[in-house]
Amino acid sequence: MTTKQYIELEDRFGAKNYKPLDVVINKGDGIWVWDVEGNKYMDCLSAYSAVNQGHCHPRIKKAMIQQAEKLTLTSRAFRNDQLGPFYEEICAMTNSHMVLPMNSGAEAVETVIKAVRKWGYNTKNIPDGKAEIIVCNNNFHGRTITIVGFSTEEAYKEGFGPFTPGFKAVPFGDADAMERAFSPNTVAVMIEPIQGEGGVIIPPDGYLKRVRELCDKNNAVMVLDEIQTGLGRTGRLFAEEYDGIEADVTLVGKALSGGFYPISAVLSNAEVLGVFMPGEHGSTFGGNPLACAVAREALKVLKEEDLINKAAELGEYFMGELKKIESPHIKEVRGRGLLIGVELKKEAGGARRFCEALMNRGLLCKETHEHVIRFAPPLVIKKDDIDWALAHIDAVLKMD
Ligand SMILES: *Cc1c(COP(=O)(O)O)cnc(C)c1O
Repeated sequence: MTTKQYIELEDRFGAKNYKPLDVVINKGDGIWVWDVEGNKYMDCLSAYSAVNQGHCHPRIKKAMIQQAEKLTLTSRAFRNDQLGPFYEEICAMTNSHMVLPMNSGAEAVETVIKAVRKWGYNTKNIPDGKAEIIVCNNNFHGRTITIVGFSTEEAYKEGFGPFTPGFKAVPFGDADAMERAFSPNTVAVMIEPIQGEGGVIIPPDGYLKRVRELCDKNNAVMVLDEIQTGLGRTGRLFAEEYDGIEADVTLVGKALSGGFYPISAVLSNAEVLGVFMPGEHGSTFGGNPLACAVAREALKVLKEEDLINKAAELGEYFMGELKKIESPHIKEVRGRGLLIGVELKKEAGGARRFCEALMNRGLLCKETHEHVIRFAPPLVIKKDDIDWALAHIDAVLKMD
């Protein structure tokens, strides 16, 4: 079948909840993917940072196949021999005390909302049904009803109400505004350390530190959604390290499996996840042995291939070179590690046409919000590859 035929099939039967670039991919290896016509592309999106370890990483593939031949799902009605070792390894690596595995990022967010609410009722004398969570404007935490309910993006929520109450949104990066939003009923603050979907927005230096202090002062749980920023993407294991702090609860997903399998996790101190008693939360597939085996290997690859330091070094190089590009369209280049946003001026006519031009040159990336091109290649990228990408980016940003 041709590209056109695949697209027609998708469009005939599929819901139209995405507007993908018209490239039909059927193979991936490291930073490269191939379409059904045999054209090769550099992947500069990494499935929204889920394939930090590169497409079809051989070690993770092997772990997945070996586990699939042995045991895939028991449900949590029984125990399995991958869960305990996964818990131990991820806690050691992330300095956590307790884990709750789920499948998608949105489920990890939903899980932590339940946990911090219950923690608040147990410890803070909050009247029943009154717990509040502070979030930020321009957030992205997933697509469930509760989560889109506290989004400030109209397209995410319009027509989907009624929504779950109990959330207050404040401007991102403004600790004073956050301070004013606390009340005796506040149980938690939940933010992204860098707003990825929001356009690669980096808060002012010291912001997370102030949030940490505000949470301590108000006896509230600090939750960081590191589903996109975590696991090496920004050149640190977690982006919180840039502010020298530790959240009480960290959410991970995406790269936790290197793109092989949906797995997410809530990583926490013992106090917050400790609120759950048997029967109060669960998931049929959450913590299944296949997911755990894949995640264990995906984490080992991050560490043993030194991908976190590579992201830091190559990200700095990539961003430095992007900043040198002289283009009338560029408003700002910003990022951390290999999570980089190039914001275009309004007059440039939107980032989409530049992404399409890059696709035609063999480089896949995606606009985020209308005017930002996000560059987030797999962390296994090399300097030569970046130079190759830069030549095309330079040419495309010099188009009229
Ligand atoms: C992708 C993402 C999510 C949602 O993850 P899904 O697996 O798509 O449900 C939540 N938070 C952030 C910051 C994300 O980037």
